Amino acid sequence: MLSVAFINPLSDEGKNVVRELGDFERVLSDNDELMSIVTESRSQEISDDSFIPRNYIDLAIKRIEWYVKKKNDRNFDNNKYEFLFNPEIYKFDIISYYLLCQAVGAKYGSNSRESRVLVESQGKIMEYRLGKLSKSERNLAVNNILNSVVLSHPKWTFFEELLSSKKLRLHEMILDNGEVILDKDDFLERFSSKIHGRKPDKMYEALIGTRVKELVMIKTVMQNTEEYISNVSEKSQREIEPNPILLELADKISEVLVESARSYGFGGGSRGGSIRASALNPRAFPPCVKNVMEGIKSGGRNDAIIMFLTPFISYARLYPSVFSENISKRVSDIDPNLNVVEGEIMPLIFGAAERCTPPLFEDQPQDKVNLIAKLGFGMHETADLKNEGQTTWYTPMSCEKVKLHLPSLCKPDEHCKKIGNPCPTTTE
Ligand code: SF4
Repeated sequence: MLSVAFINPLSDEGKNVVRELGDFERVLSDNDELMSIVTESRSQEISDDSFIPRNYIDLAIKRIEWYVKKKNDRNFDNNKYEFLFNPEIYKFDIISYYLLCQAVGAKYGSNSRESRVLVESQGKIMEYRLGKLSKSERNLAVNNILNSVVLSHPKWTFFEELLSSKKLRLHEMILDNGEVILDKDDFLERFSSKIHGRKPDKMYEALIGTRVKELVMIKTVMQNTEEYISNVSEKSQREIEPNPILLELADKISEVLVESARSYGFGGGSRGGSIRASALNPRAFPPCVKNVMEGIKSGGRNDAIIMFLTPFISYARLYPSVFSENISKRVSDIDPNLNVVEGEIMPLIFGAAERCTPPLFEDQPQDKVNLIAKLGFGMHETADLKNEGQTTWYTPMSCEKVKLHLPSLCKPDEHCKKIGNPCPTTTE
């Protein structure tokens, strides 16, 4: 019988597996049982030793690798990772999940890129595992897990965090008197007498059914994973030094992400021909940007540098296809060590700020904090990865907005006809 902990490692069963681990150093030792489960998993590619995790730490890395490669690599071969979907691996997998959460929590915190990737990977792994089950196993697992992670008649406010983080949308759920309806009997009891001309149980399947229940279950476990990482982070700041094995694992996770950014660019550069980030060519800037780069001599200086130029330069350099891809990202998804931010983006913005009359940051040094905030690094004097996500990385203004709020900047030339948003036309 399938262990629910294979889908939800934070279940009581999952916690028991962790308690049974014993000596922590074991996580680094070669484990024959693990290797045998992996090599005997159906459709598993075993032609290369590197496909086979030898211990818990290797397995943890494979989890992250699977997610980033699946997301970004057009030639991704799932057969190299089939073992992740073999339920026999569940005890090893649970330990690996906890190792990942503890490593990321201890070293990077819950606000980090590593945490975000880990939480997203857990969501995807759950989704794929459920997809491999029979209909009855799937229903049973979803109902069991839902009952343990969600109250029986949850108010919509129970999902407040999920809603505010946009992991769940209110329109995806059916509400009655502020309560979210997930259970079939509950739905029939409340709505049967009000439904005419259609079978109420068919309506339930169409409106809620497994789809919504799975969505709520997966997003709730993702949210709980994030909370767990956050608790680990707080604890490691207050109490003991993290185990060096965890810190080393955290470095390896980061390496996987850096390697992924290097290989695939940003936003899955190898998929679908999106515009890749590359060095900026100031000659290709539209007239409004050229005007700001020369320095603002009259009104609107602060908004021109902070609200207009900062989003423009940062997106044009790092994520010029923001509007065509329409996927929100953080700066560190593309520039993991902030080398481009510090080496290229800041000098351009600070140069423009200095050319203003009077120079912006000499006149109002406190505005540096606003600039950092627009890049998504919170209200701080410098861009620091640990603060990323405290504010949103502002997207560039559309031409319409420029004309409305900073009309003196807009002096259209012949190229402007093709531009709706002065952003991606600026690379070599
Ligand atoms: S039309 Fe758009 S791109 Fe051209 S100058 Fe005006 S704001 Fe800039």
